[in-house]
Amino acid sequence: MSHEYLFISDCHLDARRPEVHAALAGFLENRAASARCLYILGDLFEVWLGDDDPAPEHRGVIESLRQLASKVDVFFMAGNRDFLLGQAFAQHVNLTLLEEPHIVQLGQDGVVLVHGDTLCTDDRDYQEFRSMVRTEKWQSEFLGKPVAERQQIAAQLRADSVDAMAQKSRQIMDVNQDAVQDCFTRNGVHTIVHGHTHRPAIHHYDAGLSRIVLGDWDREPSYLSWTPEQGFDLHDPRL
Ligand code: MN
Repeated sequence: MSHEYLFISDCHLDARRPEVHAALAGFLENRAASARCLYILGDLFEVWLGDDDPAPEHRGVIESLRQLASKVDVFFMAGNRDFLLGQAFAQHVNLTLLEEPHIVQLGQDGVVLVHGDTLCTDDRDYQEFRSMVRTEKWQSEFLGKPVAERQQIAAQLRADSVDAMAQKSRQIMDVNQDAVQDCFTRNGVHTIVHGHTHRPAIHHYDAGLSRIVLGDWDREPSYLSWTPEQGFDLHDPRL
């Protein structure tokens, strides 16, 4: 039995970028098939408006994921773009939804998994938006609307967010070091794995702490592997 753990995030699957669907389907059917488990740490989809949205553009890749999940344990943690992915999707694919933060035991070490947006505390406007849309009230109201209306609202939110991001510096949209330190302390671990910022890297800090940032996807897979023999290995075409 394989002892390999794989981690991905930020595929941002979108009908306008079929090459990403192809890269991910290939990864799920080949590379990931020999692993013990696959953790998807959010923003698998560019937008997810609810499990009742037929989203035909994603059917092929969802089927690849379902096939994989029949052999390999698949876990999903929501990102800021697909936080409405729910239990119906999880049951269809046969994956396990994870609450954030989630601690996974790798060998002797506990490793905390987060999507990464909660570490970007300098972006106050976004954090305010996040607290609103993560409430049960907002979500049940939103999911109660017809799919077409949800699409309109999401398109408007996305346009607003593109405008807002153009005004923000690179630094505001990266992690805040105090939030990172707090994440180590609160979870009592030496390693954080997250995505969201699209800046794949392994950062080492004092006292043996490290923060591994998963990459966003383009034509080539971007993933982190962990095995008992090799430890962590970050694979990204930019590294
Ligand atoms: Mn994100």
